[in-house]
Amino acid sequence: MSNVEVVANIQDLVSNLEPVIATQIMANIDRANYLKKNAEEIYSLLTSGRLVKPKMNNRKTIAVSGNIATISGWDSLNLKWKQAIKQNKGISLEQDESKVKEYYKKFITVFNQYGYYVKVWELDPKQDPGKHYRSHAEKQISVIQPDSSIGVSRGVCEEDCYPYFYALAQIRQQDIVIADPNGIWLFYSHGQVKFVYHVS
Ligand SMILES: [Zn+2]
Repeated sequence: MSNVEVVANIQDLVSNLEPVIATQIMANIDRANYLKKNAEEIYSLLTSGRLVKPKMNNRKTIAVSGNIATISGWDSLNLKWKQAIKQNKGISLEQDESKVKEYYKKFITVFNQYGYYVKVWELDPKQDPGKHYRSHAEKQISVIQPDSSIGVSRGVCEEDCYPYFYALAQIRQQDIVIADPNGIWLFYSHGQVKFVYHVS
């Protein structure tokens, strides 16, 4: 698996690229940042209980792409939250780990070729190893709403989501930009990975 190249700022990131490509990447970064803001807003609305009760557990993560948001985990999407987020933000809140499972199964040979094997966790259900990591919000959104820009309310996990997106960008032959609270991840279709910290 390739190492992440940490880049000082966005200008350095695009400085030696073709203008057309640089423009496209900048647009994807802007979109990912906007989606991240949405993910953080949804997270805070649901964990605060301001909009709807019961409150969402603050260990959950929200990922957003297009007008769909996913919530980490399984069997924990409250329909009241779904209704409230739809009304308030016009975003459809979803949770379906089984779609990640199916997708991984379908492309397992190529995922493995790119060095990705879903990680098993000690608290996974006995009959379903890998379920915990497969249920991470950014993996769910990548399958439910495949897109080149994703926003997440929590830092992308380096032990499993990082190698997953590294493989996914190459499998789909699509550059994928993820904005999280720490910065911007760029998973290039040719296998390079770059990271830029948010400048506050
Ligand atoms: Zn993860």
